[in-house]
Amino acid sequence: MDAGTQDDCHEDYIMNSVDPDPNAEAYMDFMKKHCCYDAIPTSCKLVIFDTTLQVKKAFFALVANGLRAAPLWDNKLQRFVGMLTITDFINILHRYYRSPMVACINLNFKKLTLMTGFVVMFFLSVHSLFDAVYSLLKHKIHRLPVIDPESGNVLHILTHKRILKFLHIFGASVPKPCFLKMQVKDAGIGTFTDVATVSQTATVYDALSVFVERRVSALPVVDDDGKVVALYSRFDVINLAAQKTYNNLSMSMQEAVRRRRCYVEGVIKCYPDETLETVIDRIVKAEVHRLVLVDREDVVRGIISLSDLLQAIVLSPAGIDALFS
Ligand code: ADP
Ligand code: ADP
Ligand code: AMP
Repeated sequence: MDAGTQDDCHEDYIMNSVDPDPNAEAYMDFMKKHCCYDAIPTSCKLVIFDTTLQVKKAFFALVANGLRAAPLWDNKLQRFVGMLTITDFINILHRYYRSPMVACINLNFKKLTLMTGFVVMFFLSVHSLFDAVYSLLKHKIHRLPVIDPESGNVLHILTHKRILKFLHIFGASVPKPCFLKMQVKDAGIGTFTDVATVSQTATVYDALSVFVERRVSALPVVDDDGKVVALYSRFDVINLAAQKTYNNLSMSMQEAVRRRRCYVEGVIKCYPDETLETVIDRIVKAEVHRLVLVDREDVVRGIISLSDLLQAIVLSPAGIDALFS
């Protein structure tokens, strides 16, 4: 089969599906050829926390610096011993909400480490982006600190968002895999069953319970008919620290959504008859981690997350299934 133009690519793919897609491995190769250093911005703010810092102060420092995560440094061991993310804030809040939380939140990480057993997973700047994607998906994490092999300094914290954006911008000349012309409903990329949602009348504590139990990164907030009315991601939970409302987890989701500071307007969605190419363009442009798949009545039908997309365009062509292994 000829490589063909992007426009006739999909038809060839459907009509003669036994022919391999000539572009299937192009994104994978691109990611293997580029290293983590290539995807790092020329300048960025990076904050590192010492393990002797109080937990409460650390979360307030995340808020004050507009950060989503920070590496944890143990001065005695002279090495990084973990990552502090908003998921940790959620786990701590959820675990200690019903007990005198003050006791925990006033602990420092050294003590907390004993309780949770952090193990840091970082990458050298010379490692390939392919390996970075594999690690993020395999370990089901969203932050990969990138270390300078010579100095041992953390240079940046890589995320799915940064990697897909890099691919989108600098891989523009790379031939697109034919399956990007497929519609969402045919491609099977994303989660379409057992989608974790939260009712707008549920409490914030209920939402935190779902985050902890299902380990999902975000919850579509739905009304009584299952229609999506908002999106509440783990990132939004940091508002509880910013607004010092973490002692009131009985607040309704409706109220939490109304009160949160959010830079994204409405819910960024996609529809079953849209192509994967459209989905990628939208997710990159909106700078969000996932789109909510809805039908024409706005009823939630699935989630297409950056993890699903990176699995499909980078790892699947290599025969690797990191997301579901
Ligand atoms: P979030 O989506 O809130 O940023 P993650 O999914 O990255 O959180 O983190 C999930 C859990 O994994 C957290 O307990 C966090 O501390 C831990 N974690 C995240 N990144 C790393 C890493 N690079 N090494 C070790 N642990 C990590
Ligand atoms: P992160 O950068 O930590 O991965 P997210 O993309 O999950 O963060 O969330 C960043 C902000 O974007 C949050 O306020 C969240 O509610 C919002 N957001 C994320 N995905 C969507 C979406 N599909 N629709 C609307 N808002 C979204
Ligand atoms: P993420 O943590 O968003 O990178 O996604 C990891 C996997 O979880 C992907 O396969 C997503 O489709 C899936 N996922 C994300 N959010 C939800 C949700 N609310 N319900 C069910 N699956 C989800």
